[in-house]
Amino acid sequence: MKDLSETSSIHENILQKILPNYVCGTNVDICSTCKAALSKEKVPLMATYNGFSYPIIPYDLPTLNLVMLILRLWVIV
Ligand SMILES: [Zn+2]
Repeated sequence: MKDLSETSSIHENILQKILPNYVCGTNVDICSTCKAALSKEKVPLMATYNGFSYPIIPYDLPTLNLVMLILRLWVIV
């Protein structure tokens, strides 16, 4: 995706901390907000490591495509 950029070797320490399956030397595609946090050696605010999780989708909602899901997340945030 256009809005994602790769991590680099300077982010490896924090990636090892927050991603249990992270393999050193591997670059990860992340958004600019998360990359800014990693560059300061901070855990991104909405990382699962911080306890973040997506809200449960109500059972009565129709199946969402990606665009509808993104719009729904915008409304929640
Ligand atoms: Zn992010």
